[in-house]
Amino acid sequence: MLAPDLPTAIAQLRDLIDGSDAIVPFTGAGISTECGIPDFRSPGGLWTRARPIDFGDFIASQAMRDEAWRRRFLMQEHFGGARPGRGHRALACLYRAGKIPGVITQNIDNLHQVSGIPPQDIVELHGNTTYATCLDCARHYQLDWVRERFDAAGGRAPDCSCGGHIKTATVSFGQAMPEDAMQRASELSAACDLFVVIGSSLVVWPAAGFPLKAKQNGARLVIINREPTDFDDIADLVVRDDIGDALAPFVTD
Ligand code: NAD
Ligand code: ZN
Repeated sequence: MLAPDLPTAIAQLRDLIDGSDAIVPFTGAGISTECGIPDFRSPGGLWTRARPIDFGDFIASQAMRDEAWRRRFLMQEHFGGARPGRGHRALACLYRAGKIPGVITQNIDNLHQVSGIPPQDIVELHGNTTYATCLDCARHYQLDWVRERFDAAGGRAPDCSCGGHIKTATVSFGQAMPEDAMQRASELSAACDLFVVIGSSLVVWPAAGFPLKAKQNGARLVIINREPTDFDDIADLVVRDDIGDALAPFVTD
């Protein structure tokens, strides 16, 4: 499918939004790049700099846990102050207008929550990096708490009082997808009338199955992404422009 120019794309998107009662946005790293958080697969993205640490390696080795936390605190210095962008704000406006029953996100940056969408209506497929949990007893930990102990121990990742390992509440490669989030994402995808992919290369499965599910259940499909995706051919509208530019007209507050 050919992507229209920006004004045409915005007009078509407005028609689709106006004609829909249940819009489900599916967001990826691309919605947060204008907030200063790089995505994975664009040139110079995180992917090309350091190979992510597998879940198995995190569990197996103290050195890997130390490294995972070292990287996490480094990220905090760079992206800790990120604020929602125009894409997040547009979705929050549409949410408040009663158009969005829930947002499905692959992001771990908490920016949909910060934009004002209630946490219970945000389905996080890959978890959240702004807090940590014990892998054994599920107790929550603030990052500051972890950081204090990490620093005091000369860069050694602390464990929980139960003996379990403490990890950011994200889903690593090799770690099971959260069942409840997968279930809710599946329900939202099946029940919506407009499914809008925003800033995802759609290459990570099983998450990428949701646009397909929505389409198979009769929803219209919009893909807003700078690069082509494997799903462009089945989309009703493909927007290749900057996400912030495409969604800014939908920021109404
Ligand atoms: P990805 O990096 O694979 O894809 C992002 C896509 O967004 C790319 O195709 C890119 O062309 C596009 N894009 C980037 N900025 C854009 C812009 N301003 N306008 C239009 N398009 C833009 O990201 P993904 O598919 O979300 O998968 C990567 C995984 O890595 C995610 O599942 C997530 O867990 C994790 N991740 C999260 C964050 C975050 O939380 N902000 C950042 C990086 C990676
Ligand atoms: Zn514990």
